[in-house]
Amino acid sequence: MINLLDFDRDGLTRWCVEQGEKPFRATQLFRWVHQRGVADVSQMSDLAKSLRQKIEGQAAVTALSVISEQVSRDGTVKWLFDVGAGNAVETVFIPEDDRGTLCVSSQAGCAVACRFCSTGHQGFSRNLSTGEIVAQLWYAEHQLRRRLGLPEGERAVTNVVMMGMGEPLQNYSALVPALRTMLDDHGYGLSRRRVTVSTSGVVPMIERLMVDCPVALAVSLHAPDDVLRDHLVPINRKYPLGELLEACKAYLSAAPRDFITFEYCMLDGVNDHDQHAKELIRLLKGLHCKLNLIPFNPFPESGLKRSSVTRVKEFAQILQDADIVTTVRKTRGDDIAAACGQLAGDVIDRTNRNQRQERAMRSEHVVQWQER
Ligand code: SAH
Ligand code: SF4
Repeated sequence: MINLLDFDRDGLTRWCVEQGEKPFRATQLFRWVHQRGVADVSQMSDLAKSLRQKIEGQAAVTALSVISEQVSRDGTVKWLFDVGAGNAVETVFIPEDDRGTLCVSSQAGCAVACRFCSTGHQGFSRNLSTGEIVAQLWYAEHQLRRRLGLPEGERAVTNVVMMGMGEPLQNYSALVPALRTMLDDHGYGLSRRRVTVSTSGVVPMIERLMVDCPVALAVSLHAPDDVLRDHLVPINRKYPLGELLEACKAYLSAAPRDFITFEYCMLDGVNDHDQHAKELIRLLKGLHCKLNLIPFNPFPESGLKRSSVTRVKEFAQILQDADIVTTVRKTRGDDIAAACGQLAGDVIDRTNRNQRQERAMRSEHVVQWQER
């Protein structure tokens, strides 16, 4: 059975034409699925009955099944989705006053194996399909709209960041149609600046993204020199800092924003000395960028510690004094392990997870979803 979520609009058009249908039918179908969240083809009332029957025989909206949902006291929602064969991925919704950001996964596990990342520690299972990437947004958007009682046309998810599990640029062929669906006016209608791909630095794919689908780019830097970065972000051995920064510079010519965001996870005693800040200044000089310091979100197997609040402040100050726009990321949803780098998606040990979740649900930190 074909999954309708696997197609961007061009893909769906090709499919409809193959079925002997007019191209505009694809746009109608696409709007039913993505704008209205309708999975049941028989409800798509402006499509001829014969066409509906034809579609129903071969294709369907295959959503992901939800294993669990947790709501943080700060309103952050985390879903664990089953992707089969004991694998699961996580998706996080982060509500703020003026926007709602969805953090989407691109792979089950991740092959890059960064030291400080819980997904990296679990190894790589498999790439998600386009449909599985889009299904996270499809589910979250329509679920939240219903719960929040949003009027027709108003969106729950206003921003997407590919910062969940996995390295999006190591799943490039599935990623690009998913991004196109997010951007499509007949799909989710998000502007290019509100869709961010975050990468550990897959240089050739940064270059391709620039041509194929330039959205906002975030690069996970974490170290100012190759020796330390080789250790923390092993893909650096293949694509060292010099090449990475060249690719970032080139990306700026196509980027929807006039800067690149660099993410820097603050690890106590590892990459947070004054010296590292000074090296960063030298490294980033002349490049239009913003630096986002992320307090490390610890997990037991990492053996690493979070830099102290004062250390993060001092580190940020050194950079700001050198005119590098520096922000410190607020940690959201930490009571439900929904913060950056805490996504594990592990369902192998379901009993333990369920017990942990039950405990968490009982604790005062986790509130039930409140209808707004
Ligand atoms: N693979 C991509 C996107 C997913 S990770 C990437 O690495 O960019 C999203 C962000 O979370 C990255 O910046 C990553 O470096 C950061 N991150 C990973 N583990 C973390 C942790 N334990 N604490 C804080 N940030 C972390
Ligand atoms: Fe993969 Fe990103 Fe985690 Fe590194 S930080 S292991 S690239 S998900």
